[in-house]
Amino acid sequence: MKKKDSVKSNLTYERKNFWKAADAAERKAAMDFAVDYRDFLDRCKTVRETIAYSVEKLNKAKFVALPAKGKQKRVYSIFRGKTLAMAIIGSEPISAGVNMVAAHIDTPRVDLKQNPLYEDGNSAMACMRTHYYGGIKKYQWVSTPLALHGTIIKSDGSLLNVSLGEKKNEPVFIIPDLLPHLARKEQYTKNLADAIDASKMNLIFSGMMEPEAEEKDAIKAYAIKLLNERWGITEADFLSAELELVPAYESRDAGFDASMVVGYGQDDRICAYTGMQAILDNADKKIKRTMVVYFSDKEEVGSQGATGAHSIFIQDFISSLLAQNGEDNGSANLRKTFMNSQILSADVTVAIDPNYPGVHERQNAILFNHGIGVSKFTGSGGKSGCNDANAEFIAKVIRIFNQAGVFWQSGELGKVDEGGGGTIAYILANLGAEVLDCGVGLMGMHSLYELCSKADLYSTFKGYKSFLIAD
Ligand code: MN
Ligand code: MN
Repeated sequence: MKKKDSVKSNLTYERKNFWKAADAAERKAAMDFAVDYRDFLDRCKTVRETIAYSVEKLNKAKFVALPAKGKQKRVYSIFRGKTLAMAIIGSEPISAGVNMVAAHIDTPRVDLKQNPLYEDGNSAMACMRTHYYGGIKKYQWVSTPLALHGTIIKSDGSLLNVSLGEKKNEPVFIIPDLLPHLARKEQYTKNLADAIDASKMNLIFSGMMEPEAEEKDAIKAYAIKLLNERWGITEADFLSAELELVPAYESRDAGFDASMVVGYGQDDRICAYTGMQAILDNADKKIKRTMVVYFSDKEEVGSQGATGAHSIFIQDFISSLLAQNGEDNGSANLRKTFMNSQILSADVTVAIDPNYPGVHERQNAILFNHGIGVSKFTGSGGKSGCNDANAEFIAKVIRIFNQAGVFWQSGELGKVDEGGGGTIAYILANLGAEVLDCGVGLMGMHSLYELCSKADLYSTFKGYKSFLIAD
């Protein structure tokens, strides 16, 4: 009987539940790891805030910005304030390839339009027009407290970072939803996707005016006056500003056992955070291959532009690394470096939601508490648009995880033909690198309150850490 059991356990694949199989120290480590993670989520609700937080951490850990003097091994580079790469140079030539964890730090949100402010004659209120960013379900963004974050460049060229609505004594903003009493025609007859019209996602900004005001649009005029008093800006300064509405809530522990974290922006800051913690945790170790952690922007809108993963930035960063290490950084050697590199595309995937198991095929789906999710491909339909990772590389990553005692599982993003999605994996694979999608399974992805398991958060950190340091 006993022998039969052991044969079975050696021959079959069965993912393990972290809480069942991990020892007491690991269970505690997983719960403890989430404390700083939650602080990170609360402090980083925009791309720029994530960069600022990360630079602070990197400077503390003695990383220096490129180009660096002398034989600095811990380096980083930021481009346009929105994309970041950090590295620790190993003992082997960089051209032998790097180990990279690549995440994105932009998140779905609701932006203010460039000329946002108007006085609404019907309601006698000052409002702001919005334009959403990324794949949101619009109905989630109405009737919920929103905070305004962003960057304003004033006419004299000075830069102002703003954040309003995060602190208890600060006002928040609301895009009001229609009351159910009067929603029969406007909403109830429509599909879920159409029920909230993007042109009706105007924010209530303010309602006061000067006493005895007689001018036209006095409410709007008063709003501009307040904006000028508070931030020293004029209406024209909105035209160039980047102002983003994000949920005004802090992240929280979730569940009676507090084994989960609920919070905004975990796609994909959970992988960015665990990636950065992984390289920092490896910082004092002797390493052969150079470790790189890359934060890209614009993933939610196609990774285009100077700060998206399609940008020249990551190639320029690796080229600068080669130069920093005294290696040839010409085009041929740079290409060779990428072709010798191994990369985890560190992005979230989806875990089975008890309310919607039907969109998955359970045998090939991710479950909460069963560790970091490994996905050979993403895409939709017949794997369209995906990076299909090589068998050799997947097997290697799984070997690394097994040797390090990392809880991991394999899964894809939903049932075949149910829908789909993509990551930056193919963009980096286009440079010739081995790339595998590898990240945390979330519930409620792209919502205002995404849910993760602390076991998976911690397992992902351990997975990235073991991968970065692997030979
Ligand atoms: Mn993502
Ligand atoms: Mn996403």
